[in-house]
Amino acid sequence: MIDAHNHLQDPRFAGRQAELIETMKSVGITACVVNGTCEEDWPAVAKLADAFPDFVKPAFGLHPWKVENRSETWLENLRDHLAQYPHASIGECGLDRWMKNPNLEDQHQVFREHLALGVELQRPVTIHCLKAWGPLLEELRSAPALPKFLLHSFAGSWEVARECLKLGAYFSFSGYFLHPRKEKVREVFKRLPPDRILIETDAPDMASPNPEFPLEELNHPANLRQIAKELVTLTELNLERFAANTTELGL
Ligand SMILES: [Zn+2]
Repeated sequence: MIDAHNHLQDPRFAGRQAELIETMKSVGITACVVNGTCEEDWPAVAKLADAFPDFVKPAFGLHPWKVENRSETWLENLRDHLAQYPHASIGECGLDRWMKNPNLEDQHQVFREHLALGVELQRPVTIHCLKAWGPLLEELRSAPALPKFLLHSFAGSWEVARECLKLGAYFSFSGYFLHPRKEKVREVFKRLPPDRILIETDAPDMASPNPEFPLEELNHPANLRQIAKELVTLTELNLERFAANTTELGL
């Protein structure tokens, strides 16, 4: 099992990463993609990649919530991190109209830079999208070229999924979608082609109901096992499939 998306560098996990990784390994998780969200946390992601080279796959990107606070040299900084970690992917980045006072113009511009970088460096891009499916589709369709990309914690409709599939999208399922009220999302995952589905925790956020590994108010990344089991039941796919898709995507 590979956790396609988490934030082990999150300050809420500070000092506990070695222990968390130990538990993850003990339940059969072999690797995870640790997503940076802003220039301030990229060094922490890099540090985890250095400390756990066989387990942590780094990703560097600017989350739409953090776009506002980027430096003038953010793109250069991002390029530096990607050059230093040739196996790193790009993310998390994207569009968000759910947040308070979104600066959409900046979000779009920053998102485009990530997509272009993905094409230029041939790295997959992990995309966050909340309440911005129309604008996201427009961006993807109007891009001069597209990198391989993952729509993480995908909660869009089947109609959106179908359009994104045509553009080559991969989709990851998180534990949050196991809540009874998320039936619609589960229905979408049942219809997706088997070779486009990944699993993720988004730890420390997006907790599942009744987690196998409760961790105060946080989502423990070892809960991936529970998420995987549920999704296997739901889609009738096997675990190897999700891991193979992660590798195929290049994460
Ligand atoms: Zn995330």
